[in-house]
Amino acid sequence: MNIVLFGPPAAGKGTQAKIITAERGLLQLSTGDMLRAAKSSGSELGNKVAGIMDRGDLVSDEIVIALIEEQLDNNPDAPGFIFDGFPRTVAQAEALDKSLSSRGTAVDGVVRLCVEDDVIMGRIEQRFKDEGRKDDNPESFKIRLDNYNKQTAPLLPYYAAQGKLSEVDGLASIETVSASVTKVLNEMNVSGGGKKPSFWKRIFGLS
Ligand code: ADP
Repeated sequence: MNIVLFGPPAAGKGTQAKIITAERGLLQLSTGDMLRAAKSSGSELGNKVAGIMDRGDLVSDEIVIALIEEQLDNNPDAPGFIFDGFPRTVAQAEALDKSLSSRGTAVDGVVRLCVEDDVIMGRIEQRFKDEGRKDDNPESFKIRLDNYNKQTAPLLPYYAAQGKLSEVDGLASIETVSASVTKVLNEMNVSGGGKKPSFWKRIFGLS
């Protein structure tokens, strides 16, 4: 089962991704976490993306697609993936479809966590005070939200057209949101996980 968790910054994607990972054994692939790890390791990639991330801008499609490809290659036996913070542009979504399809699998569903802008603003102000993440400062956050609206929101019709989009109220408590996500996942049609389809499925379309 391959799931994309979708929503604006601070919608709670990371929190829900961790719960689903624990419950279903899917592998969480968070490009934000990968890029932050690169940044704090001081690697060449980290130094390249640090300024872009702190400013609140998007890292290039080429870089994040390569990070995801690497994880897909390194985990051929994973029962499936939960994508958190990826894809964020239509080009990333197309690359993901292509990449999964070459591995005999697909995105099974996209769960959108719906949260209004004013709520997100409040959450980020609090997180900035608590954790001091550089890109949570008000200027960078405004850029992140703008980028979400301009570059990431267009993915909603992309996935809706494929009949893969489900929406969940992201304003409720963590437990309530998680229960809604679980319900959506339980109702989802699954293409066969992260592994290549079985011999019989490939030959006769049987699962
Ligand atoms: P958020 O709290 O906004 O969901 P993330 O942890 O997902 O934050 O991402 C932090 C930053 O990392 C983004 O603002 C962006 O600079 C970069 N980033 C993460 N994922 C992507 C992606 N898929 N495409 C481009 N940039 C990304």
